[in-house]
Amino acid sequence: MFKKILVANRGEIAMRVQRACHELGIKAVMVYSEADKDAKYVKLADEAVCIGPAASAQSYLNMPAIIAAAEVTDAEAIHPGYGFLSENADFAERVEKSGFQFIGPTPESIRLMGDKVSAKQAMIKAGVPCVPGSEGELPEDAETIRQIARQIGYPVIIKAAGGGGGRGMRVVHTEAALMGAVQMTRSEAAAAFGNPAVYMEKFLQNPRHIEIQVMADKHRNAVYLGERDCSMQRRNQKVIEEAPAPGIPRRAIERLGERCASACKKIGYRGAGTFEFLYEDGEFYFIEMNTRVQVEHPVTEMTTGVDVVRTQIMVAAGEKLPFSQRQIQMRGHAIECRINAEDPFKFTPSPGLITTWHAPGGPGVRVDSHIYDNYFVPPHYDSMIGKIIAHGDTREQAIARMRWALAETVVEGIRCNIPLHREMLVDAEFLQGGTSIHYLERWLAEHQR
Ligand code: ADP
Repeated sequence: MFKKILVANRGEIAMRVQRACHELGIKAVMVYSEADKDAKYVKLADEAVCIGPAASAQSYLNMPAIIAAAEVTDAEAIHPGYGFLSENADFAERVEKSGFQFIGPTPESIRLMGDKVSAKQAMIKAGVPCVPGSEGELPEDAETIRQIARQIGYPVIIKAAGGGGGRGMRVVHTEAALMGAVQMTRSEAAAAFGNPAVYMEKFLQNPRHIEIQVMADKHRNAVYLGERDCSMQRRNQKVIEEAPAPGIPRRAIERLGERCASACKKIGYRGAGTFEFLYEDGEFYFIEMNTRVQVEHPVTEMTTGVDVVRTQIMVAAGEKLPFSQRQIQMRGHAIECRINAEDPFKFTPSPGLITTWHAPGGPGVRVDSHIYDNYFVPPHYDSMIGKIIAHGDTREQAIARMRWALAETVVEGIRCNIPLHREMLVDAEFLQGGTSIHYLERWLAEHQR
């Protein structure tokens, strides 16, 4: 096992990884920008290294500074968290070339999954169900493109192979609009991602977002850890996540999960990963794979009892997965609310000083956050300041516990989105379960204030 790990991230995930290190008796080296010098996990670190000014480009995205920090502290491995450099194949490569273990998949796996065309082709080959669409990248010829669209049937969506974060996509409803959309997406993709390749898919009108958590080791063992329903989104950003997904037959999830685990073995995947699917009319359609730990991993941890971050570290150190598929049982139901420093209904960011922070507690309640009384939320980064997770024997109990947890929570000094969560947790359709990815945005449009 490693003796020392460098955590190349900030905020709640830096805190989460630090906790896993300490539980395993591993020393944690925290890197921080000047804006994060007072963070709790920096104070609690075994060693801490400032890697640059507040701007991410000069700190959390600064590869030479991070690798130099690992060198001076004699760390053996680097955990990238999520966001920042976590899905950057070049970073993973530089980490390994410098003699450190990257806690995540190989650079080849990150590259394969980072290009949506190659990812989709690999998934089709591995037997994972995908959205009907073009076979790979669209050709130049306009007539061929029109034929592909006719075969798929309108509406279609044009997507950039190198796209991410909800950018590089365009929905097309008619043939008249097709070629304009293809050209526009191509030139945008070339400018934004340095890769003009685009492909076409059927546009699903009212899907849910269902994802499968996988975990694989270096010995070709892979398991799936159930699913998560992340359909409550705004602008492609998840707001509430839960496990299991309400109303989907267990057998369907098991079949899908087995396919994902077997795809991991086929592509030589290692570490934690997530297969994201759209789900409509009883069918799953793969859209992309995330090759890192995700924000919403706690709902999986609460329902399966598996510590995702600890397992990431163990498999990176070369250990075998400490459980088999048969030992993974989902128990009860878990819900996560992401707490963002923003106006709850207008969504303008609200950084600044948190004058009072009171965290909730009680049975089945977990809080993953790095904040404290008099913590200053820096304006330079993502607005998420923590997550509240509630677990119960049933979905109803998890929701009841979450409602009370939100009622107990106090955040003063800045605005945060807890008022929105409170409304969602009494919303009749949310309570019923199974809302589509458009539900929250439609609700917000109807409840403008
Ligand atoms: P990104 O990497 O930018 O997040 P994804 O491929 O994961 O891109 O897609 C992001 C979101 O775009 C999905 O969650 C879904 O809301 C929408 N989307 C993508 N593909 C389709 C599709 N074929 N039909 C309907 N919506 C889609």
